[in-house]
Amino acid sequence: MCLFCKIARKQIPSKIAFEDDDLLAFHDINPAAPTHILVIPKKHLTSLADASTEDEALLGKLLLATQRAAREAGLVEGGFRVVANTGANAGQSVFHLHLHVLG
Ligand code: 5GP
Ligand code: ZN
Repeated sequence: MCLFCKIARKQIPSKIAFEDDDLLAFHDINPAAPTHILVIPKKHLTSLADASTEDEALLGKLLLATQRAAREAGLVEGGFRVVANTGANAGQSVFHLHLHVLG
């Protein structure tokens, strides 16, 4: 099973920001900014390139979860970045879809 599936199932501990039935938001182990949160679906998708129309609602939830992560970290006024490295040539290193929230 992949690393982020294990994190989603609490088989590997992480510093959780929040979660619901479909997604988990947790702090990156090697932060690239003062706030660096990862938002993942609990369903395994390899990357954005692996998503399809059946994942439309899930993708919407993930994007709104990045907004929540930024808001709860106090980043909404000042601004934040959302990044989805997609594929090896884009620097993706964990092949379970995740959105980086950086601020
Ligand atoms: P990617 O390079 O695939 O876009 O991002 C993967 C991210 O996952 C990296 O920023 C990396 O620091 C983070 N990461 C890798 N392994 C772990 C882990 O075991 N726990 C947490 N919290 N983050 C991880
Ligand atoms: Zn996975």
